Amino acid sequence: MAPLASGARTAEALTERPTPLAALRQEIAGRRTKASDLASEYYARIERKNPQLNAFLSLTKERALAQAARIDALAARGDPLPVLAGIPIAVKDVLVMQGAPSTAGSKILQGYRPPYDATVVKRLEAAGAVLLGKTNCDEFAMGSSNENSAYGPVRNPADTERVPGGSSGGSAAAVAANLAVAALGTDTGGSIRQPASFCGVVGVLPTYGRVSRYGLIAFASSLDRIGPFAGNVRDAATVLGVIGGHDPCDATSVRAPVEDYAAASDKPAEGLRIGVPAEYFAEGLDPEVRAAVERGIGALKEAGCILKPVHLPHTKYAVPAYYLIATAEASANLARFDGVRYGYRSPRSETLAGMYSHSRDEGFGAEVKRRILLGTYALSAGYYDAYYRKAQQVRRILAEEFLRAFAEVDALVTPTSPVPAFRLGEKTDDPVSMYLADIYTVTASLAGICGVSVPCGATPAGLPVGMQVLAMHLRESTAFRVARAVEAAGV
Ligand code: GLN
Repeated sequence: MAPLASGARTAEALTERPTPLAALRQEIAGRRTKASDLASEYYARIERKNPQLNAFLSLTKERALAQAARIDALAARGDPLPVLAGIPIAVKDVLVMQGAPSTAGSKILQGYRPPYDATVVKRLEAAGAVLLGKTNCDEFAMGSSNENSAYGPVRNPADTERVPGGSSGGSAAAVAANLAVAALGTDTGGSIRQPASFCGVVGVLPTYGRVSRYGLIAFASSLDRIGPFAGNVRDAATVLGVIGGHDPCDATSVRAPVEDYAAASDKPAEGLRIGVPAEYFAEGLDPEVRAAVERGIGALKEAGCILKPVHLPHTKYAVPAYYLIATAEASANLARFDGVRYGYRSPRSETLAGMYSHSRDEGFGAEVKRRILLGTYALSAGYYDAYYRKAQQVRRILAEEFLRAFAEVDALVTPTSPVPAFRLGEKTDDPVSMYLADIYTVTASLAGICGVSVPCGATPAGLPVGMQVLAMHLRESTAFRVARAVEAAGV
């Protein structure tokens, strides 16, 4: 558990909405605010609040301040400023930054300092962003609560007895507490959308291939995506516009042009056809979450959207299919951590084989080991057809089901998670119940389509609720328009 600092007794609110980035940028361009002062203000707030939240694992101060100074010099000369000039942004610790610790929340990567920058890191900096540091997450992004981090859990700024969601819990909490204006996360089965909903911020799942994965420490390569968190839809759209686009270093990145997502998000949602899938409002949905999402749906109707009931009957097979495919890919991806090439090496090693097994035994946490075992089993001769191949067939059926739905509607709306943020420790002894709570997010992950989780009110106790807006491949603009309408209604 992260120690509760004396800051817990101060009057400063833990949750705090960041100023929209366009306003901050204008301040900097008009030389009313210096990027360096803004960065220092953010570092001061991190110092005050992070001991309670444990959202950041490490800070990249030197690099951030050098970048801020560059922006200030540009502004002083009156040069045109790039779109994210001076904007403080946090980066999930599964993304590499040259020379900076990149642990992926794992002990096995303790001490590892990568020799290069992820493409998204390069793109953010080229657009003027000031990268504050690396955020906490579940080990190798495996989890839904951030409790699988080797560096202690993150606490939810809305209620510190509760989880922030996961695996990108640090990024979501950082934005919710205004420790960053925006943050990058990764989403393999819900790890951006679900923590966004638990913390009351916006989170984006871009289409598979929209954003380069070069420099992402892989979990499940056919599912992994990088996307932004922000305090409002327009800011999230702006950041996606910066990080999106083809990259020769990632053969799965798509060549489709990057739209002006921020401008697209300004368009009214009037006339859009919105599907409401019955399977996402069935048994297991918390009634308070349902009520909030139904209010959000009401707001869309008010905004002139055309609502239609739709069916996605194979939804119930998504969790088992996801946990077979994701673990199978993880078991292969994690083979590279052997104590030789990266990070932690066990001192208890007399033979080479012993070094491998001790390093992996001591370096990986329980959930990661569980997944390596599950995935290796699913891929083993004799079981491959029964498990892995079957899961791939289910994946195809789910994708086709979405495509059929999108022939009739422009977007789908669902709850992001069946429950609001749960208590720390509530599900740690029951991995299956933790897995089952991913039911509404893993479907889009398997299908490769895009989505946004947008804040949609709260439970009577004040816990944030998120609405998930899903759209067809490369139709991020549509998802942003719908999310904007929900946001504007202030549900
Ligand atoms: N909760 C899911 C899992 O544990 C998703 C994680 C993710 O998207 N990285 O696999």
